[in-house]
Amino acid sequence: MLFLNDEVWERISELTGGAMDPCYQCGTCTATCPWGFVSGKPLNVRKLLRSAQLGVDGEPSDLWLCSTCKYCEERCPRQVEIVRAILGLRTAAFEDRKAPDRLVNTLWSVFEDGNPWGGASRDRGKWAEGLEVPSALNGVKVLLYVGCTASYDPRIQNVARSLVKILRSADIDFGILGSQEKCCGDVVRSVGEQGFLEELVEKNVETFNATGAETVVTVSPHCLEIFSDVYSGYGAEFRATHYTEFLADLLDRGTLRLSNGGGASVTYHDPCYLGRYLDVYDPPRRLLEAIPGVNLVEMKNSKNNAICCGGGGGGMWIEVEAEKRLADLRTEEARETQATVIATACPFCIINFEDSLKKSRVSDVSVRDVAELVERAL
Ligand code: SF4
Ligand code: SF4
Repeated sequence: MLFLNDEVWERISELTGGAMDPCYQCGTCTATCPWGFVSGKPLNVRKLLRSAQLGVDGEPSDLWLCSTCKYCEERCPRQVEIVRAILGLRTAAFEDRKAPDRLVNTLWSVFEDGNPWGGASRDRGKWAEGLEVPSALNGVKVLLYVGCTASYDPRIQNVARSLVKILRSADIDFGILGSQEKCCGDVVRSVGEQGFLEELVEKNVETFNATGAETVVTVSPHCLEIFSDVYSGYGAEFRATHYTEFLADLLDRGTLRLSNGGGASVTYHDPCYLGRYLDVYDPPRRLLEAIPGVNLVEMKNSKNNAICCGGGGGGMWIEVEAEKRLADLRTEEARETQATVIATACPFCIINFEDSLKKSRVSDVSVRDVAELVERAL
């Protein structure tokens, strides 16, 4: 028997902003969610939304499995803001102490060290040792916001170093925050901890504004998305942009020149938070096409149809019990193109794709960030 409780209903309605109200339960979201193709058991999005409409607990595992990729939203005939509803349900679950332990520990890491990877805050700028990048706190036009993954993950640090070289070659007045940089809050939001998120955003806005930077350039689309969606409401005095947009603009103005070719066949994967969330599809492709000798080939699902790597919505910190992962599905699609390089523009995608290729023992395809390919072409 199902007991409905007005108080719970009102709370869920408030936390989700009523995002699920227009849902008429057609089930298109459940049928199209890519989790169904990898786990053998579809993620029952329709049921989650029904639970939200009724104000009752949904299927907890489905709630945390969603990578917030918005693939389902693109197909919903009622334009339901499915991810907004899911995040509201997560906030309720978090408040009720029902969030997975691993995600809660990740939040503690952000709280104590300013990043979800457990690195010491004093080590945040170590990736830049020897590069002599100026501190943005001395005043700069452009703040390069590196983000947690590019600061601590040895593989992704290479992307940050590539960007430093590219910005230098284009004579940009830029700086970094080094040990003063903190997590953007993306993972905090995906777990649903609103109070801590607000605290983090306020601190970051204060630090960013203190640099006097007009533009904040991000390495990760996840940082850009939260800067664009949330920070603007907290007095941000800067414009945020993804590095692919910033560099494509430099290319158009002739400030960035690419002359060394690699002659590779490259396929580009659209990160969900750059594509479906922010509508940035062309700048990374313009950069790749400007590299002499690069032959850009598209996967069968690209742009707004691109399948997620599985890293969003806290997915980097959630153990998944599935035969396959979303990244496996995507790397298989990439391999169908015969490209020898999978290019992308998000730290999570790179980590997940490299992991997937390694597990499948594929050694004739490499994964590169667009910034790494651009740097090689300088
Ligand atoms: S596709 Fe849209 S309308 Fe249909 S069940 Fe899903 S959320 Fe509801
Ligand atoms: S946002 Fe992505 S992972 Fe989440 S339910 Fe929709 S399609 Fe599935």
